[in-house]
Amino acid sequence: MSSTTVINPTDESVIAEVPHTPLEAVDEAVARAVLAQRSWAALAPADRARALRRFADAVDGAVEELALLEVRNSGHPIGSARWEAGHVRDVLTYASGMPERLIGAQIPVAGGIDVTFHEPLGVVGVIVPWNFPMTIASWGFAPALAAGNAVLLKPADWTPLTAIRLGELALESGLPEHLFQVLPGRGSVVGERFVTHPQVGKIVFTGSTEVGKRVAAGCAEQVKPVTLELGGKSANIVFADADLEKAAATAPGSVFDNAGQDCCARSRLLVERSVLEKFLELLEPAVQAWKVGDPADEATEMGPLVSSAHRDSVQGFLDDAPVAFRGTAPAGKGFWMAPTVLLPSREDRVATEEIFGPVVSVLPFDDEADAIALANSSIYGLSGSIWTRDLGRGIRVARGVESGNLSVNSHSSVRYTTPFGGMKQSGLGRELGPDAALPFTETKNVFFSQE
Ligand code: NAP
Repeated sequence: MSSTTVINPTDESVIAEVPHTPLEAVDEAVARAVLAQRSWAALAPADRARALRRFADAVDGAVEELALLEVRNSGHPIGSARWEAGHVRDVLTYASGMPERLIGAQIPVAGGIDVTFHEPLGVVGVIVPWNFPMTIASWGFAPALAAGNAVLLKPADWTPLTAIRLGELALESGLPEHLFQVLPGRGSVVGERFVTHPQVGKIVFTGSTEVGKRVAAGCAEQVKPVTLELGGKSANIVFADADLEKAAATAPGSVFDNAGQDCCARSRLLVERSVLEKFLELLEPAVQAWKVGDPADEATEMGPLVSSAHRDSVQGFLDDAPVAFRGTAPAGKGFWMAPTVLLPSREDRVATEEIFGPVVSVLPFDDEADAIALANSSIYGLSGSIWTRDLGRGIRVARGVESGNLSVNSHSSVRYTTPFGGMKQSGLGRELGPDAALPFTETKNVFFSQE
């Protein structure tokens, strides 16, 4: 059986050998999930809610363990990793309120009434990327389970460890066997089989736009519902009237958080031309103060990149790139890279393509219309920020920018109580928020005759 050697990106040491799930084992897992789902869906909603709360409690008891595992597997700073583990607990707790709130409608019609039910889809395949292995998985599995489905989760090949532990915690908390199975392995084997297997009723895919298109095409073959959370090249728009000190102080966090390996990274920094020079003077010390180092250190703001191959990919964008200034990074073992600020032209590939590393392109604009046009010149539309003291402009620009998640005078992107997802080639459908369970159901209408 093939396997993945999991490497600690901070010191390049080997931390685990994880066997890949072979194709036949994926099919066996689907068959077991089909049976487990029937019993799960037949439970009273309150019992499903209780089971999810117990799962949340188990995660709560393991926050530190999960966080330390993520520090070693992904190089996330310990403070961020703790937040991520706590977020999984919170997503599960929030989802535990959903089984009892999947309420249909009663519609008076000629000769009787129509009654609607939100029926589960059966087995849901959740395919996740390596950048936020725990949190993104929970956005799929928690509401899918709440809606009465079984879940098969495929973690990314580089970062399977926290997902595997979450699968164990589910069982330890008493969730029925085979209801939530974690199947590590290659995307081209496990992920593709989720897509082609006729008994997998829905796919939630988070990853690159390129692979997402293939997944969507595969789902189309079977008319299988799919949610896509894809790439981004989000704009952080700073107007001349903004609190420039605050905008500059927060800009590094908006793009270098998780070493820029964040779909919502504000990797294009659009600055009104009249304040460009002043803004860069404020930005440079903030970038140099951005603390890159050992992710186990509580004070660290940015760890290494996830792998040697990914660092090479990011570095490939920087050869001959117009560097304005850089921060610092450790030397020696580990996949380190210093935060980098570029001053490219609008057409340069560093300003248009998703780099997924600690790199930001500063692009000047002339006025409000130009800022909106420049923000919208991307194929992506996931996130973004607008900095201005003019409330009317904040509203106009937020409505004008084609993006699923915007933030005015802050860099917030994801809250589990609020719908999240992309426009254009950043995705299809929404996760999280009060209606998160609905995409994991299909509405059934039943007519009751009064004759
Ligand atoms: P990726 O290469 O597209 O992989 C994502 C997942 O898909 C992995 O588990 C991968 O498995 C699997 N996969 C690969 N080929 C597949 C196939 N043919 N069929 C089914 N599954 C397949 O993306 P990534 O490099 O892991 O993640 C980075 C990307 O994710 C970036 O573009 C980022 O913007 C995006 N992202 C989006 C969001 C969002 O919410 N919009 C959030 C996070 C990340 P392997 O690991 O085995 O290759």
